[in-house]
Amino acid sequence: MKFMNADENKFRERDQSLEAIVARLGVRAERGRRFAELTSLRVGGAIDWVVSPENEAEAAAVVHAMDQAGIGWRALGSGSNILADDGDHRYVVLSLKELKGELEFDGERVSVPAGYSLPRLCIDVSRRGLSGIEGLGGIPGTVGGALWMNAGAYGHEIGTVTETVRVAREGKVVEIPGTEVQWNYRHTSFKEGELLLGGTLRLTPDDPEKIRARMEDAKSRRMATQPHGSRSAGCFFKNPPAATVGTGKMIDEMGMKGARKGSAVISPVHANFIVTEEGANAADTLALAEEVRERVKREHGIELEYEVELWRANESKEDRTADVAEEKEPT
Ligand SMILES: Cc1cc2nc3c(=O)[nH]c(=O)nc-3n(C[C@H](O)[C@H](O)[C@H](O)COP(=O)(O)OP(=O)(O)OC[C@H]3O[C@@H](n4cnc5c(N)ncnc54)[C@H](O)[C@@H]3O)c2cc1C
Repeated sequence: MKFMNADENKFRERDQSLEAIVARLGVRAERGRRFAELTSLRVGGAIDWVVSPENEAEAAAVVHAMDQAGIGWRALGSGSNILADDGDHRYVVLSLKELKGELEFDGERVSVPAGYSLPRLCIDVSRRGLSGIEGLGGIPGTVGGALWMNAGAYGHEIGTVTETVRVAREGKVVEIPGTEVQWNYRHTSFKEGELLLGGTLRLTPDDPEKIRARMEDAKSRRMATQPHGSRSAGCFFKNPPAATVGTGKMIDEMGMKGARKGSAVISPVHANFIVTEEGANAADTLALAEEVRERVKREHGIELEYEVELWRANESKEDRTADVAEEKEPT
């Protein structure tokens, strides 16, 4: 809350500056949205602005203008890997969901915009007889979100098939080779402030029926082991590298399935999922996650690392809005 009073002027200036940018670039900007509407956990507080570019050039231009004006922003795909806290998030959320565009096929390659749905992409390429991402078919979210954290499941990771990534640099769309990116376990070398606009995947030709069968197999395994139809963000914690059992099993063996704080519950189906029920808030969800971490630390000596991203309303970037510069005239 520290900036609510002292910095009101700063935010007024920021608002004017942003309004000028979006008017000049013709980009949609809205107020009054909440993370509870925009994330799969359905919790989280108010957002100052949601800006939604519709194509890659527009997205590159808008982040460049915001950077030049010192306006703090964060990229949001489908919000399926984010726990945003209940506070007022006084920055701009750059929503990529409208950046859907069309797929472009060239032999074994497919070029895809960041806002394209990952499950949709998996279906589309399988119909073309292109294999390599069928294990990812059940991962909700956008391609941009998947690239950002190297989404993976059932033996497939998006990074292994990514030939190039398009990123926003100095207002332009720049293509970088996938080999320049470090693709680690649910983590990449992309840095905060970097906007991913799309990518080109290089896949392997195979019989569409065989690909479909593998996709169905991954889907049934997912349905059998994970809660579906519930509000979650997927696995809450990463599997610790040195542990012999997975995090879900460890939490299950501690008898924590079904444990709750308010309306946030450790899923009775998969103990590494926290699901939220009607009326849940982020504070309860985080408190439950912290209780899990404390018990795992106490009983196993393991420090669990979050797989879900925690977005704090009051974290720094003084605090995501530097001193707002006047918007520069376009050159
Ligand atoms: C039921 C369920 C099951 C899941 N199963 C899996 C699984 O098996 N494997 C797995 O890996 N994940 C899984 N997840 C987690 C999640 O779906 C993936 O991490 C997904 O790739 C996130 O995509 P998103 O568009 O929702 O990203 P968001 O949650 O919106 O964002 C995640 C991060 O990516 C950044 N980001 C998003 N788009 C961009 C962009 N264009 N440019 C720069 N940064 C960007 C955001 O700033 C944020 O830091 C699951 C989630 C759910 C709800």
